[in-house]
Amino acid sequence: MNLQCRVELARAYKAGSQIARVLSEDWCVRELYCAACDSDRLLSSRANTPAIDFVCPQCDQCFQLKGFKTWNQRKIPDAAYASMLRAIRSDRVPNLLVLQYSATWAIKNLVLVPGVFFSETVIEKRPPLSPSARRAGWVGCNILLHRIPQDGKIAVVSDGASVAERQVRMEFSRVRKLAEVPPTVRGWTLDVLTSIRKLGKSRFSLQELYLQEPYLQGLHPRNQNVRPKMRQQLQVLRDLGLIKFRHPGYYEVCG
Ligand SMILES: [Zn+2]
Repeated sequence: MNLQCRVELARAYKAGSQIARVLSEDWCVRELYCAACDSDRLLSSRANTPAIDFVCPQCDQCFQLKGFKTWNQRKIPDAAYASMLRAIRSDRVPNLLVLQYSATWAIKNLVLVPGVFFSETVIEKRPPLSPSARRAGWVGCNILLHRIPQDGKIAVVSDGASVAERQVRMEFSRVRKLAEVPPTVRGWTLDVLTSIRKLGKSRFSLQELYLQEPYLQGLHPRNQNVRPKMRQQLQVLRDLGLIKFRHPGYYEVCG
């Protein structure tokens, strides 16, 4: 994988944001492959659908690109809040590519977030734009990357080095079955997976997981049954092959 963007393409543009878009999109079309199948390329599709930048010619998976010069691992700005909520509820969120480029237009980091990892928990509503703004009253949203478990942040390029395609495809395929959980329930499944990951260990007990109850209660303030919900979602995660039940009350993360 050649990590350098074609800087000469920038000559035709003046605005910095436009240059960033053109260079990073061109790089993706030249260098990116599909993580969901064995296709060695993605096609540009921006002209047809504003929220989707690339589509796989082999398996039709859709990808959206967000490029930045500075790397914020906690949150990134996204489009309109209402349309993001609609996409989540109807299970139509594309896979997200979060890309960081250097001052000399080399790709430094690229993280792939599979679309199944988007739930209402990871979307933050922004305040409406002020009355003096061109789009006064418009409400955007942020994607809270820190609320997405590490299973859903697949490194494609890390610290200026590309990760092996086989590894990227393996990580994508490991979490693919999450799509089988209906989007109305999947938010809880993902929140419990995030809680497990916050423990920072591959083997854990139910008692340890209960320490995450305040975090989950904070995300779901109206739910009065957080502990039963946690136990229920452990079973869902087991059925998806993401965790194993070792002994009663003891679990292990798979993969
Ligand atoms: Zn594909």
